[in-house]
Amino acid sequence: MFNAIYLTKVDQFLAELRGLDDAELEANTPDADTSVAIDYSTINYKDGLALTNQSPVVRRWPMIPGVDCAGSVVNTSSTLRVGDKVVLNGWGAGETTWGGLAQRGRYKSAQLVRVPAPLTTRDAMSIGTAGYTAMLAAMALVDNDVGSGEVLVTGASGGVGSFAIAILAKRGYRVVASTGKLNEADYLRALGAADIVDRAELSSAGKPMQKERWAGVIDSAGSHTLANACAQLRHGGVAVACGLAQGMDFPTTVAPFILRGARLIGIDSVMCPIERRTQAWQHLAQELDRAKLDAITREIALADVFEAGRAILAGEIRGRVVVDVNRGR
Ligand code: NDP
Repeated sequence: MFNAIYLTKVDQFLAELRGLDDAELEANTPDADTSVAIDYSTINYKDGLALTNQSPVVRRWPMIPGVDCAGSVVNTSSTLRVGDKVVLNGWGAGETTWGGLAQRGRYKSAQLVRVPAPLTTRDAMSIGTAGYTAMLAAMALVDNDVGSGEVLVTGASGGVGSFAIAILAKRGYRVVASTGKLNEADYLRALGAADIVDRAELSSAGKPMQKERWAGVIDSAGSHTLANACAQLRHGGVAVACGLAQGMDFPTTVAPFILRGARLIGIDSVMCPIERRTQAWQHLAQELDRAKLDAITREIALADVFEAGRAILAGEIRGRVVVDVNRGR
């Protein structure tokens, strides 16, 4: 038996912490070739939606939610070895296939990345999908030759935002953090933000072309925030769209793109090819400062995920919440 968060929807939606057995796990993961003893999972925005049934994240019932996890291989018919430390991000985990908020999981080996040294499985989940997405966004800025100049990070105190600041600052960019939590200014500066702006300056409808400021943008908000950020891109600037914390809409015009040669790049961490994810994890292992990792992360038990899911949707979480799936409250 092992403990798991278990979501069902028969007459009504039910989210519970319960025991499952290996036979049930196997029956619900027919395409998997690798069993993992999970050490840690996390709470991402999407997990908050799944845990509270607030939007149709879960496509199959019953479901173990959790879009990411890290642990050790216990059984595999692949080229992985028993004992290998692996990390899973996305690929539909917690949506169409059983995810990581459990003590045990079964996954496709082709979707697992070996945790690169010196990272531990806990580090891998401190980083989690948020940090890995932030690295994909930073890689996109480089691929698109972002010029020198200021880079704006929106949703700065969130998971993607916190890692984006730490990564970009380490790489030598001057990072400006946009946040709704001005009381977290010290935290954002400690991560490497050179300046802070109130997110209210970006979150209302603005003009299609505004004063040029940003060489690059990493955005977690979407909606008016991304529209204003694009309107403030310098000539040839690059905006990277990661999220929709403000909204799915994108109320803008083509003006910044055809008059300033601005570019907008989208990040999809879920179906990102394995080669690029492996590259992203290598960069994370090499570049992240441990002190910053610790500052970003707080740890909870499996039984606490329901409250954490509510809190992340309410925008109350700073940084990352790691779930130690084997610890009591
Ligand atoms: P978090 O909830 O940790 O962070 C989101 C942050 O956005 C909040 O902390 C807050 O930061 C800011 N925010 C919240 N509400 C609003 C609002 N109404 N307007 C503007 N800003 C707001 O989530 P994550 O960092 O984990 O994820 C960020 C986004 O990226 C989510 O939408 C998520 O779904 C998406 N995502 C996408 C991925 C991909 O593959 N493209 C992968 C991972 C996440 P502050 O208070 O500092 O402003």
